[in-house]
Amino acid sequence: MDREELKEKHFATICVHGSGGPDPVTRAINTPIYQSSTFAFLNAKEGAQLFAGEKEGYIYTRLGNPTQAALEREMAFLEGGEKALALSSGMAAAVTAILALVKTGESIVASNTLYGGTHKLFRELMPRLGIEVIEVDATDPANIDKAMRKDTRLVYLETPANPTLTIVDIAACSEVAHRHGAKVIVDNTFATPYFQRPLELGADIVLHSATKYIGGHGDTIGGILIGDAEFIDVARGEILRDLGGCISPFNAWLLLRGLKTLPVRMERHAFNAMRIAKYLAFHPKVQRVWYPGLTTHPQHELAKKQMSGFGGMITFEVKGGREAAVKLLDSVKLITLAVSLGDVDTLIEHPASMTHSTYSPEELAECGITEGMIRLSVGIEHVNDLIDDLSQALRQI
Ligand SMILES: *Cc1c(COP(=O)(O)O)cnc(C)c1O
Repeated sequence: MDREELKEKHFATICVHGSGGPDPVTRAINTPIYQSSTFAFLNAKEGAQLFAGEKEGYIYTRLGNPTQAALEREMAFLEGGEKALALSSGMAAAVTAILALVKTGESIVASNTLYGGTHKLFRELMPRLGIEVIEVDATDPANIDKAMRKDTRLVYLETPANPTLTIVDIAACSEVAHRHGAKVIVDNTFATPYFQRPLELGADIVLHSATKYIGGHGDTIGGILIGDAEFIDVARGEILRDLGGCISPFNAWLLLRGLKTLPVRMERHAFNAMRIAKYLAFHPKVQRVWYPGLTTHPQHELAKKQMSGFGGMITFEVKGGREAAVKLLDSVKLITLAVSLGDVDTLIEHPASMTHSTYSPEELAECGITEGMIRLSVGIEHVNDLIDDLSQALRQI
């Protein structure tokens, strides 16, 4: 089926068929792993044309590769963007996107609850490059408005945010950013395009740590940017080309394979997460649960409005602080104590000492990340087995 026809189909169908159909050369139904660093030119004239950008084709895998291109076509399709760029990791995607948009002497306004690595990037490397990042509580778009300066080129949002599952209003924040002439990046790692499509809400660029739900199996690292052709061409041709954070053909292939089951996995992640969130909410040893699907979540109404499902991430706080949290982490048997998220396996971790150890104690307090807080990436196991494991571990506290 051609792409125009496929456009009319449902998301799940596009996930299975959207990478471009059988391989044009061999008719293999899956895009092959084009494990080649370089590509032969037909003749010297063609080589020169490819370098001059006068002809479409492959030159060298740092600049592009057919397996990577299939992944990019599919992700652009799923997020509703013009083009996409796949990179070696989510962090490579973040740095590449920022350097494509912001120069030394300019600034970024960002939401203050972020993936720990992004926060470290904003606190250390960006200032070293002369790019100031102002972090604000973006749950109120007025805070973004107040922080915007003449030199602000970019508003950087993450929603739902890591680890507190804070939701920011993409449409309202984009309106503010655009009024000030800035672009908007949304880190859509937690929701995936299955539950949230930031470009339709007014954002300019979507970023993924594809390591998480896009791959879905905890077996690869990757990053993806989706945006308009002008942005993606600069990100690829001017920044990635120099920074060199290209994705390997094998990792691109693993992500393509992951995408085919994205809707099925997300449905199960969300189903399990809702059941576990409700279980934890009524547990006597649990102080508080953050899950966008619970009516007690501070932005539950906004989550319902801008997302079509609530995802598979839960954060909860046990009574008894750090000591109780550590006891729980050391007592789970089926659930794995590990960082990362979005895998078919359920993973548990302690943000304050692990993923968010890049935050100072003051910053942790500002974002509401406490010592008793635990982050759970709910997998696709049978939910009763997961609840049994949490139940026996909570008894150990
Ligand atoms: C993991 C993660 C990143 C960084 O991605 P890597 O693939 O680990 O480089 C960025 N944002 C969010 C929300 C993440 O969870």
